[in-house]
Amino acid sequence: MSAIDTLPPLREVIATHGLSARKALGQNFLLDLNLTAKIARQAGDLSGSDVLEIGPGPGGLTRGLLASGARRVLAVEKDTRCLPALAEIAAAYPGRLEVINGDALQVDPLAHLTPPVRVVANLPYNVGTELLVRWLTPADWPPFWSSLTLMFQREVAERIVAAPGSKTYGRLAVLAQWRAEARIVMSLPPGAFTPPPKVSSAVVQLTALPAPRYPADPAILSRVVAAAFNQRRKMLRAALKGLAPDIASTLEAAGIDPTQRAEQVSLDRFCALARAIAPAG
Ligand code: SAM
Repeated sequence: MSAIDTLPPLREVIATHGLSARKALGQNFLLDLNLTAKIARQAGDLSGSDVLEIGPGPGGLTRGLLASGARRVLAVEKDTRCLPALAEIAAAYPGRLEVINGDALQVDPLAHLTPPVRVVANLPYNVGTELLVRWLTPADWPPFWSSLTLMFQREVAERIVAAPGSKTYGRLAVLAQWRAEARIVMSLPPGAFTPPPKVSSAVVQLTALPAPRYPADPAILSRVVAAAFNQRRKMLRAALKGLAPDIASTLEAAGIDPTQRAEQVSLDRFCALARAIAPAG
């Protein structure tokens, strides 16, 4: 009998430990262990990796990660009510699950992890985008993670993988696709969760590239993209006024028509613009 079979069903765990879902903590639990095993498999071969999981809750995905052979799982959970359920899982997989009780936006998990690190999470929706942007914008590249396998609201997932010219193309797409390969690998209807959220969800798989696709200074690129998409309906020469003394000429030097709007500009042209503003060192 494998360790996962010795643990009680998740509905029983929730009843025993009084884990009624709290909206403020973005709690929509996955209780189907076949589904959590499938999500864990999307992350690839975990046997040689440490896994960082944010928001394990009652531990359905945590169980999937351990059963699919993760070397170690470090789980960061804010809700103290979940700790006894997670302790039962840790006991079933000795030495392989460490739980930090804290806010993922405050805790620095790096000291607890040995590379290679994969991040796998059914993220609390209220902090998901902020965590993703942090993971995508470290000072140095490659980052601490080799892949991110993350559940998002379908609409956010579409923004991450969007191509130029689409309504969902924006800052998230540029930041994600500049230094990572991003694709949607699973779609889940609201009914897959307990309680069901209002919207559909999707799992996005991001794999860190060894180096950026095109050279650019990360801070300049971030500023350019933020300014361009903050006023996405304006022509770039207006939206980016102030980023260079003669922004129209700088745009032209980067091969961009100054009358275009941000959503028409490809990733490589945004990088060319960042280089035209500040040549990469
Ligand atoms: N992974 C579990 C699953 O799939 O069933 C739970 C997912 S639920 C969508 C999000 C989880 O993140 C909850 O357990 C919630 O308590 C936790 N959480 C919410 N905000 C958090 C934060 N700032 N830091 C760490 N965990 C948080």
